[in-house]
Amino acid sequence: MEYRKLPHGNEQISVIGMGTSVLGESNQEEMVATIQMALDAGVNYFDLASGHATTFEAFGKALKGQREKAYLQIHFGANYMTGEYGWTTNLQTIKQSVEWMLEKLGTDYIDFGFIHCLDEASDLKAYQQAGVLDYVLELKQKGIIRHIGLSSHSPELVNKVLDLGILDMLMFSINPAYDYKHGQYAIGETDERMALYQRCEKEGVAISVMKCFSGGQLLDAAKSPFGKALTPVQCMQYALDKPAVVTVLAGVKNRKELKGILAYDGASDQAKDYSILASFKQVNHLGHCVYCKHCHPCPMGLDIALINKYYDLALLGDDMAKDHYLHLEKKAGDCITCGHCNQRCPFKVDQMARMQEIRDYFGC
Ligand code: SF4
Ligand code: SF4
Repeated sequence: MEYRKLPHGNEQISVIGMGTSVLGESNQEEMVATIQMALDAGVNYFDLASGHATTFEAFGKALKGQREKAYLQIHFGANYMTGEYGWTTNLQTIKQSVEWMLEKLGTDYIDFGFIHCLDEASDLKAYQQAGVLDYVLELKQKGIIRHIGLSSHSPELVNKVLDLGILDMLMFSINPAYDYKHGQYAIGETDERMALYQRCEKEGVAISVMKCFSGGQLLDAAKSPFGKALTPVQCMQYALDKPAVVTVLAGVKNRKELKGILAYDGASDQAKDYSILASFKQVNHLGHCVYCKHCHPCPMGLDIALINKYYDLALLGDDMAKDHYLHLEKKAGDCITCGHCNQRCPFKVDQMARMQEIRDYFGC
């Protein structure tokens, strides 16, 4: 299992995370066994915006005596007092719901306390006016919440919350359908969405990815907006290649579905290659490097995707990315313009010209 470090902390987070929206469709025994199987496989990151209240009891049972093995995203605004998921901005209800969740989980701390599911400026206003944001900040100050997160589908709204400077984690819907303007949550232009991921990277706000299969649509040619199916591994790699992303939260119902997701760990580079996207006529944003590595290997040993990622971030003023670039063993200045990457790039990036541009920018 690959782990990625939380920029605002020391936590090492597994790239395969687990979502729980449908876990509660299984019985308690199956849920506990699924959580245990995930832990045994090295998964340590779990989102608890579950569709069912019963999920919390299952986590309480599975984590008994091993709470430290899991990082939990707990949502301030998800209400399970009725037995099923509900959304609220009522402070009193949220306080009761959080207490209920902690009791069922058998824990007294929250790894990631999430401002839950805000997509509109009016949602944020209501959240602030109701005193929920102050409550989240108060729990952080008391050490009950270790990190603050936000879940949202809207780049515009996320940018507003980023301006507050309180976030360590963002849960955001990332998949090729939404990034290329197809589907219910395809909010924002392609460039706007990429700029958001880059801003998160620059500000050290990690991203945990939700809806990486677009609710399963991308895995089914008949339902996909592209008319062709992608595999779970391709979708996961797509999301994991985006700046700031540390984990992909795939929703699973049981051990059988979890096994399918765990296949990402150990999948070949060929299985992870999603560059077929460039052949879909709906993906009409060519000429931009998506860091997919399809053009690798470079005969001079350049990590073309990483060099491009650092360059894009450095252009936005990310000094850490600039420093990372300067410490690379092979830099754009080592490019011999052999043309291999240009021939291989399905996204029609003129990489030879890019390398010269990057060399001029960094001076090496
Ligand atoms: S140049 Fe093309 S093939 Fe290479 S990483 Fe970028 S998008 Fe992928
Ligand atoms: S053109 Fe430059 S970066 Fe591209 S494969 Fe050749 S040496 Fe590597």
